[in-house]
Amino acid sequence: MKTTTATTGLILNEPLLWERGNRGRSGFSLPRRDVENASIEDALLGNGPDFPDLSELEVVRHYTRLSTWNFGIDTGMYPLGSCTMKYNPKTNEKQAGLRGFASTHPLLPAELSQGALQTMAELEKFLGEITGMDAVSLQPAAGAHGELTGMLIMYAYLKSLGSIRSKIIVPDTAHGTNPASAALCGFSPVSVASGKDGILNAESIARVMDEDTAGIMITNPNTLGLFEAHIKEIARIVHDKGGLVYGDGANMNAMMGIVDIAALGVDILHLNLHKTFSTPHGGGGPGSGPVCVTKELAPFLPIPRIIEENGMYRLSEESPLSIGRVHAFYGNFGVMIKALSYILSMGPNLKKASQLAVLNANYIKEKLKGTLHLPYDRPCMHECVFSDLHQQEYNVTTLDMAKRLIDFGHHPPTVYFPLVVHGSIMIEPTETETKESIDQFIESFKSIAEEAKKNPDFLKEAPHNCRTSRLDETEAARHPCLAG
Ligand SMILES: *Cc1c(COP(=O)(O)O)cnc(C)c1O
Repeated sequence: MKTTTATTGLILNEPLLWERGNRGRSGFSLPRRDVENASIEDALLGNGPDFPDLSELEVVRHYTRLSTWNFGIDTGMYPLGSCTMKYNPKTNEKQAGLRGFASTHPLLPAELSQGALQTMAELEKFLGEITGMDAVSLQPAAGAHGELTGMLIMYAYLKSLGSIRSKIIVPDTAHGTNPASAALCGFSPVSVASGKDGILNAESIARVMDEDTAGIMITNPNTLGLFEAHIKEIARIVHDKGGLVYGDGANMNAMMGIVDIAALGVDILHLNLHKTFSTPHGGGGPGSGPVCVTKELAPFLPIPRIIEENGMYRLSEESPLSIGRVHAFYGNFGVMIKALSYILSMGPNLKKASQLAVLNANYIKEKLKGTLHLPYDRPCMHECVFSDLHQQEYNVTTLDMAKRLIDFGHHPPTVYFPLVVHGSIMIEPTETETKESIDQFIESFKSIAEEAKKNPDFLKEAPHNCRTSRLDETEAARHPCLAG
């Protein structure tokens, strides 16, 4: 298919509501009054703001047009590597919106929250089953929050053995939140370079692992989309020195129902429900970063824990070794309902979803290699990482190609991350894209690579078919204009 999804037509400009309308226009009509004339503004607000006078249709068009400016997974493919921007079935939203769930109050006593507690207990059980871990806490509200919780658990566990350690190993491919979470917990991150094949080798871990090192934070598959094939041996080296293995499970979309994470030697793992388990993200909405641990570490999980006794659920604070609370209320409860609904509706197909995510990424890798430079030419997991090396001779960069993709109607992939690849382009198609949309994306990238040879200057000014041309990102960061 050669056509692109983008169009230059019908991109409607939209002024602020304050710049539209006309005196006396209104979105409603009232019966003829039988009292003295008084303006609504004066009556309701005193000398309040001068609201614009607008008809109903003007308001409807205004907000409908604004809604079309937004790009989301419901609009098109969103191959933002590391973020798992997959399509989330609407039924899961519907379950989260059920009245009994949506109107639950966080201060209701356990007797009146049995359904909510049962939902959470069941989700904990399923997440344990999917990962192979023994115990789960749903308290952390995001991936980074799960990492911090995991670091606190690691510290508390080692301390209970009389071992206070100051360092932690973090590979150079790690997401930035890993060293940040470790540092927040008082550990000094020790960076270890991945090998020529893009993964960690056991020797480099053996060189730095010592009795002052609490353990390692390891992301599997790593942020290059590669499976850490030596993880078992690495875990053994870390365990032999009395350390623990923290698994960053944000990339779980590659391995659901396929890999038993505990069997790899991981002691603590966080998941991103807002990546893998059916909560859309990217707009700053609620997330959830459950922490899963082995049974030795279960006593250190945050309180309260959800306990089932004689068919009744309750929240228990009786856990003397616990690191304490990391979240006051479960305000992100809706994310948990969506995850449970997703798991129950998918069942054994969770495994198929991961297999398709991996297949789609490998398809893109094979089709685009040659067009784009592929630094690690080996089978990938759910995402693949290219670079702009082939385009350098035309002075065209990753950023230029990413901006040009917008003209073709695609959300750009993640760019310039992971840092270990210069000019990286990280593509994660996810399992929910059809072959047609993936082919269209591939064709667009190929056309852009041709343009890079023939007309690089045109690329340097992309995007061309957008509401705004290329933004000055430094200026936008330094002096954000928040007023519209
Ligand atoms: C997204 C991500 C995180 C952080 O998750 P947040 O919910 O954004 O805090 C951590 N590690 C990896 C590998 C990720 O992709």
